[in-house]
Amino acid sequence: MAEFPRPRVVVSSCLGLDACRFDASSASSRFVERLQPHVDLVPVCPELSLGLGAPRPPVRLVQLDGQTRLLQPTTGRDLTDAMRDFARSFLESLPPVDGFLLKSRSPSCGLRDARLYRADHPSPLPQPRPGMFAEAVRARFPDLPAEDEARLTNRSIREHFLAAVFAFADLRHALEDGSRAGLAAFHARYKLVLLAYDEQRLRALGRLLGDAPRRLPQAVREAYATDFRAALRRPPRRGAVVNVLLHSLGHLSHRLTEEERSYFLQLAEAYRARRLPLGVPVAVLRVWALRFSVSYLLGQRFLMPFPESLVCLEDSGRGEGWI
Ligand code: SF4
Repeated sequence: MAEFPRPRVVVSSCLGLDACRFDASSASSRFVERLQPHVDLVPVCPELSLGLGAPRPPVRLVQLDGQTRLLQPTTGRDLTDAMRDFARSFLESLPPVDGFLLKSRSPSCGLRDARLYRADHPSPLPQPRPGMFAEAVRARFPDLPAEDEARLTNRSIREHFLAAVFAFADLRHALEDGSRAGLAAFHARYKLVLLAYDEQRLRALGRLLGDAPRRLPQAVREAYATDFRAALRRPPRRGAVVNVLLHSLGHLSHRLTEEERSYFLQLAEAYRARRLPLGVPVAVLRVWALRFSVSYLLGQRFLMPFPESLVCLEDSGRGEGWI
């Protein structure tokens, strides 16, 4: 059974952790409940942190003189500067983190879908935008996965988020002792993941490690981390994932019957044609790797990128992804 280091994830407190919404309610999140045993959550409620209390009059984003301001209309307070100051000091004081899970549609935490109002009109503008705290998160941590609970109801988006968060936690631990051996072992575990996401970076990172001394200079560690995170920024193309499936099959082929190989090729094609989730051919590979004790495949995170108990079939069906 694979061991996973615990990622550290910043989460909006109202996602089941605190009744801190404007009406003193909490938004339940089954995903956060499932995540809790595996992840160190760092809860934050930016509006409570401004001393607004719960319950409180709602705040909203308003366009004023060409600028976006965070206002509390019933009190007339302009909270823009206070929110920007809080976001800066909170984000600067964080320990190393691996991702953000924020509340959708909030004028503070929404990553892409907060409503923006005009000062002289009760209806929102058609184009949503990020909330003010979320905007600061994106600016300060452009390389880290950041999602909201609504998008994570889509299975592909959720599994890509989990794969990245667990990989980045693994990377943090691999970089801790500063040895080339530790990072080389990490690189070996993620070879097939990188092959799926970004083959060029797989090779460039391998060269970076190959040329490095046994004690890794800080510059090499930073270069590796930056490029690894960049490789996992977007989900891989489906064709690249199919190539990894076929590459993995190559490590088992000589032990399989013609019928077994042909069945696996059908599964890979069904995945390419979006008729099967990636989990199906990957589960078959894992069973064969276990049965034939193929240690190379068993050591690959591609076959198990995050703890199995986080696999969930729930899917909104919206969105498009690789898994
Ligand atoms: S969305 Fe953000 S600011 Fe609003 S209640 Fe939740 S954590 Fe607090």
